[in-house]
Amino acid sequence: MGYNCIVLVKQVPDTKRITGQAMNEDGTVNRAALPAIFNPEDLNALEMALEIKEKYGGKVTVITMGLPTAAEVLRQSLYRGADGVILLTDRRCAASDTLATSYILSCAVAKLNPDIVLCGRQAIDGDTAQVGPQTAEKLGFPQITYVEQLLSLTGKTLTAKRNLGNGWQEVKTSLPALLTVIDTANEPRVPSARRLMKYKGAKCRLEVEAAAKTDPSIDVESTCKGLEKRGLLIRQWDLDTVGADFGLVRARWVAD
Ligand SMILES: Cc1cc2nc3c(=O)[nH]c(=O)nc-3n(C[C@H](O)[C@H](O)[C@H](O)COP(=O)(O)OP(=O)(O)OC[C@H]3O[C@@H](n4cnc5c(N)ncnc54)[C@H](O)[C@@H]3O)c2cc1C
Repeated sequence: MGYNCIVLVKQVPDTKRITGQAMNEDGTVNRAALPAIFNPEDLNALEMALEIKEKYGGKVTVITMGLPTAAEVLRQSLYRGADGVILLTDRRCAASDTLATSYILSCAVAKLNPDIVLCGRQAIDGDTAQVGPQTAEKLGFPQITYVEQLLSLTGKTLTAKRNLGNGWQEVKTSLPALLTVIDTANEPRVPSARRLMKYKGAKCRLEVEAAAKTDPSIDVESTCKGLEKRGLLIRQWDLDTVGADFGLVRARWVAD
């Protein structure tokens, strides 16, 4: 049968390795002072999706919403076995709260007609654990949170074990559905050297444009065409691509 799995991953500041002023005056994170990493539990979500693909077939697509620098977590996902990656980036998303973030992500996911959407339980910066459940709500999908183990997957029915902290619960759902995965669910695989060599040159258009700003010999159009031919051009979507209503997004419009 094979399952179309979508994994939502976030690039987060490494809160364990702060070098300098972590927060800006306006309460936003000073990302320059914090090395950026793959949100730990999103690696567990990606691992679960890859295990589903290996056992039942199908494909794994990874989406991240963030700055162009977040393309790094997409490359990391390709190194581990993702089939496709999408960067959802738009200045109008700046400072989105979980309501806006989950709305925008739900618009992107809906375009891909998934069987299973997998998220980490929580991001280590915002720490709200809200985006997964909110995204399920907006998609109208059933959700199973705190998933520690996939017990069975047959046709359009999935059964999973949730870790509630003081016990476990077995939950069965019809598909499509959204799962949030916890860190004890699995041991995320390390990047494969072969895939790293193949995908380390993958870039999104904004990264090529940024490189062309410092190196005028780079022609953006031909570079992107070349990347696309080699399957190394990271798909880049914005609010218009996913058909998001800006009125539902407007958290704080950052004027140019
Ligand atoms: C210090 C701090 C405090 C904040 N407090 C609040 C608050 O109280 N209320 C509020 O609404 N917002 C808050 N935010 C903003 C919030 O971080 C963003 O809305 C963020 O995009 C999502 O929330 P989260 O980080 O809590 O993620 P969580 O809800 O904890 O993330 C759960 C999962 O959702 C997925 N996910 C989350 N963000 C993305 C993304 N950008 N791209 C792809 N997948 C994603 C990942 O799978 C992740 O594991 C805060 C941000 C910071 C830095």
